[in-house]
Amino acid sequence: MIAPLLRKVDSSLLGKQIERCNSRFFYDFKVRQARDIIKDTFVIFSGNLPVAVSGGKDSLVVLHIALEANPDVSVIYNNTTVEFPETLQYMRRLQKEWGFTLHITQSDKPFFKAVKDRGWATHENRWCCKPYKDLPAFQFLSSRGYKAEITGTTRTESIYRRSLTPIKTPKKEPYIIRVNPIYDWNEWEVWRYIKENDLPYNPLYDLGYRRIGCWCCPINGPTHYKRLRKTHPHLFKFLSSFSPPHPIASKI
Ligand code: SF4
Repeated sequence: MIAPLLRKVDSSLLGKQIERCNSRFFYDFKVRQARDIIKDTFVIFSGNLPVAVSGGKDSLVVLHIALEANPDVSVIYNNTTVEFPETLQYMRRLQKEWGFTLHITQSDKPFFKAVKDRGWATHENRWCCKPYKDLPAFQFLSSRGYKAEITGTTRTESIYRRSLTPIKTPKKEPYIIRVNPIYDWNEWEVWRYIKENDLPYNPLYDLGYRRIGCWCCPINGPTHYKRLRKTHPHLFKFLSSFSPPHPIASKI
């Protein structure tokens, strides 16, 4: 008669305690591992290892850990030229508060002119990522002789990133080795680190945005554009009357 009772206690109390312990062990392990990855790769690359930040939560965590290991680390932020205004202001504020050296890279070709010429990116053809995200940063890195950079990429971000490893050598251009200290973290662990360390995060998260990259990216779903209509009506208005028609915003 007592066995079913124990099973019930197990699942409600003991089960929860075990779950909490497991998540604490995993989390502590991942924080230690991220610190080790950064420490070891600073040695491998003789300190010539900048941090690439996007203004988002993942690269914020990585930047915090990298600055603990090397307060003089260089920081690179690539402005795709279609960043939310809040993100640019936030990056400037973070630089002032934390006192790091910030290099801002960006393409000199107007984004919307290129969209007029080539059309909007699709899931199958994200043509604008290379000229507006990858190449300006790559040109800066190679002009400074950097062979690698630290990123906040995680493998839970998309199915294409499932095979992400702590250090990833590129198979195609741009040929920059990527160090991914939080490659195995999930979203919950990233937020836990931010809260525990009281890190100043991008205010767009408090407006409900989960991804804070290019505000007009066609890969974002309707929820993003419904939110944009509320929080940034001028940007939404511009987009909904743009030609060629935006695949999502023009239908909302
Ligand atoms: S709009 Fe989307 S596809 Fe284009 S550069 Fe930005 S993230 Fe990449």
